[in-house]
Amino acid sequence: ESSNMRFDLQLLDFVECEKDSEKIAISASDKDLTWNEFKSEVEKVKLELCQYNLLKGHPVIIYGHKEANFIVSLTACMSLGFPYIPVDTIYPIERLHKIAAIVNSAIVINTIENKIDFESKNSATTYYLDDPIVYIIFTSGSTGEPKGVQITRDSILDFKKWLETDFNFSHKNIFMNQAPFSFDLSVYELVGFLLFGGTIVLNSRELLENHIEYFERLKRYACNTWVSTPSFISKYLLSSEFTSENIKNLETFLFCGEVLPSTTAKRILNNFSNSKVLNTYGPTEATVATTLVNITQEIIAKYPKNLPVGFVKENTVINLLDIDSENIGEMEIVGDNVSIGYFKNEELNAQKFQPKYEKRSFKTGDFGYFEDDMLFFANRKDELIKLHGFRIELGEIDKEFTNNKNVNEAITIPLKRGTEVMKLITFLTVNQEINTGTLKEEISKILPYYMIPSDIIILDKFPYNTNHKIDKNELINIYKCC
Ligand code: AMP
Repeated sequence: ESSNMRFDLQLLDFVECEKDSEKIAISASDKDLTWNEFKSEVEKVKLELCQYNLLKGHPVIIYGHKEANFIVSLTACMSLGFPYIPVDTIYPIERLHKIAAIVNSAIVINTIENKIDFESKNSATTYYLDDPIVYIIFTSGSTGEPKGVQITRDSILDFKKWLETDFNFSHKNIFMNQAPFSFDLSVYELVGFLLFGGTIVLNSRELLENHIEYFERLKRYACNTWVSTPSFISKYLLSSEFTSENIKNLETFLFCGEVLPSTTAKRILNNFSNSKVLNTYGPTEATVATTLVNITQEIIAKYPKNLPVGFVKENTVINLLDIDSENIGEMEIVGDNVSIGYFKNEELNAQKFQPKYEKRSFKTGDFGYFEDDMLFFANRKDELIKLHGFRIELGEIDKEFTNNKNVNEAITIPLKRGTEVMKLITFLTVNQEINTGTLKEEISKILPYYMIPSDIIILDKFPYNTNHKIDKNELINIYKCC
C-alpha cells in the first residue's frame, strides 16, 4: 500500500490556473474544453478507470489521434498512477496489438471510438510496474521489436523545471501541437500546457493537409508557441501566408528531433522577424531534450554549416566517450532526465543504461563535439535515421521484407542530400519472381507509411566490400544507374 502511494502525480495540483478556469485548455479535433470542463472530464475518466480495480502501476494503453479525450485520458492515468502508453492511429493496428502483448495491459482506452476496452485477465489485478512511471513511449528497435522507453515522475519534474527556468514557459503559452502523442516531441506541449495551466491546440493529420484551414486555426486560437521537427515546418515556410503579418501571435518556434538546417532558421527569422527560434537536442531515452540554444542571426552567421544544438541543461551532464582527433565523441547523457531503461529489456539496458556517479546514464549512439560551451551534433553511430522527423531503424524494415518467404535478403538504404534523408530504397534478393507492387502493399499493412521505401529494387546478388560487408555506396550507385 505505502509503496503504491509513490505513484501519485496529482498533476492538477500543480496547475495555477484556478482564476482562469473558463480559459480554453484544449482545442482538439473533436471539441474544445475549458479548464473547468477539462478537469471534470478527467474526473469522469478517473472514476471509470477505478471500476476495473487495477493496481497502481498497471500500464494503460491510449489509442487515438488528436481527440480531446486523448489528453483527458492520459491526465487521468498520470493522476491515478497508471503508466500510459500512447499509440497513434497513424500506425497500422498491428502495432497496437504488438505493444499490448508486450506490456500485458488489461486496458486500452480508444479515443476515436470513445470507449474503454477491458480485457479481464489476472494481470489486471496482480501486475504493476514497480517504479513511478508516467509514460512508456515505444520507439522502433533494430531487432524488429519496438522498445518501450520508461519515463518516471522525477524525470518529468526535472523537465518541468527546465521548461520554467530556461524556456520561460507559463500559463501564457498557447501551444501548436501536431506531433503524435506517441512521439515524445509532443511532451513539450503536453507538460508545457498541463503543468503551467496554458492551452494546447491539436492539429490532426487531416487538417494539416489544408494550409489555409490550418493557418486560420493558428490565428483563431492565437497560438504563440510552435513545436515541431525542422522538416515539418519547411513546407509551410514556402507559403507567402506563413508570416508574422498574417499569423500575428506566433513568437516561439521550438525544434527537436533532427538537424535544424540554417536555411530553415534563416527563413523563420525572415518570415517572423521578432520571433525566437529554439534548437533542442535529445533522445526519447532522456525525456524529450537535454540541450537548448536560441538561434539568433549572430549564431547563424557564426556557425552557418552546422548550427549548435546548445547548452546542456542544469542537473544533467553530457560526456563525450572515445574522443577522436577532431574532438568528436559519442554522447553519453547523465542525469535525472534519463529513463530507468527499456521496458523488460535487461540485456539492452545493461549495454545502454550504465549508472554513472550514482546517476542514471544513457549512451546515445550520437556523435558530437563542444565548441564555445555549446554542444554540436555530428552524426549517428548506427542505422537509426530520421525521415520527416520520424525515427526509423532500418533493420526493422529489412526484417519485415525478409519475413516474406520469397525474399532471401533485404537491405534498406537512406538516400541523402547533405545530412538530410530524402527517401528510402530497399534492395532485395529473391528466390522466386516477385511483384514489387504487391510486396509494397503487403508491407504497408504492417509498417507505418513513413517506413515504406519509395523504391524496391531486386538484384541477383548484393555487392560486398573487401571487409565482406554489404557495400552500401555501391548500392547507391546501382540505384542511380537504374
Ligand atoms: P527520438 O528519440 O525519436 O527523439 O530521436 C532521437 C534522435 O534524434 C537523437 O538520438 C538524434 O540522433 C536525433 N536528434 C534529436 N535532436 C536533434 C537535433 N537537434 N539535431 C540533430 N539530431 C537530433
